Amino acid sequence: MKQAKMGGFGDKGQMYTCHFEWPDDCSVQGGNSGVVFSKNGNYRTAFFEAFPKEPATFIRGEGQTIEEAEKNAWKKYRKIVDCPGHEYEKRGYTSGVGFCKHCDYQKKEAFLPDQYCKICGCPTNWKMSKKKEFYCQVHKDKIPEEDMFEWQKESADPLDIFDMLFSEEE
Ligand SMILES: [Zn+2]
Ligand SMILES: [Zn+2]
Repeated sequence: MKQAKMGGFGDKGQMYTCHFEWPDDCSVQGGNSGVVFSKNGNYRTAFFEAFPKEPATFIRGEGQTIEEAEKNAWKKYRKIVDCPGHEYEKRGYTSGVGFCKHCDYQKKEAFLPDQYCKICGCPTNWKMSKKKEFYCQVHKDKIPEEDMFEWQKESADPLDIFDMLFSEEE
C-alpha cells in the first residue's frame, strides 16, 4: 500500500501507510496535527492530501485522526472519479479555475480568466501586481518595479494563482 509522508507537528518525516488504493502516480501526504488558518478561527486537525494525475487536481481531507482524514479525502476522490460529467461553475473566482457542480472537482483552466492584461487587454492569469493588475505572458516584464511583490523582483516564475487559492489551508 502507498506510503504517505507525514508533515504535521510532531510527526514530520514519519511515514503513514494508506488504507485506500490511491493510484500509483498520485502523490499523497498527511499529518496528525496541522493548523488551518481560517476566517472563522484557526484550528488543528489531522489532514490527508492527495494530488491525483487523472484527473489532475488537489484533494484534502480532514479528521480527528489521519485515518479519518484519509477516508474523507478518499470519499472526495471517488466522488470525482464517479462523476457522471463535470459541469463547472466559477464560485466567485476570476482566475479561470472552475468547480464541478456535482463532485467539486477543481479544474485549473475551466474558463478563460475574468481578469485582463493591463497592456493588451487579453484574458490572463500570468502575473498580478501588488495593485492587483494583471500582466500577460508577453507583457509580464512591464510591471513597474514599485508594483511588484518582493518575491517577483527576485524570481522570474509566473505567479501561480491556483497555488495561492489553496495556500490559506497550509
Ligand atoms: Zn464532476
Ligand atoms: Zn498583454
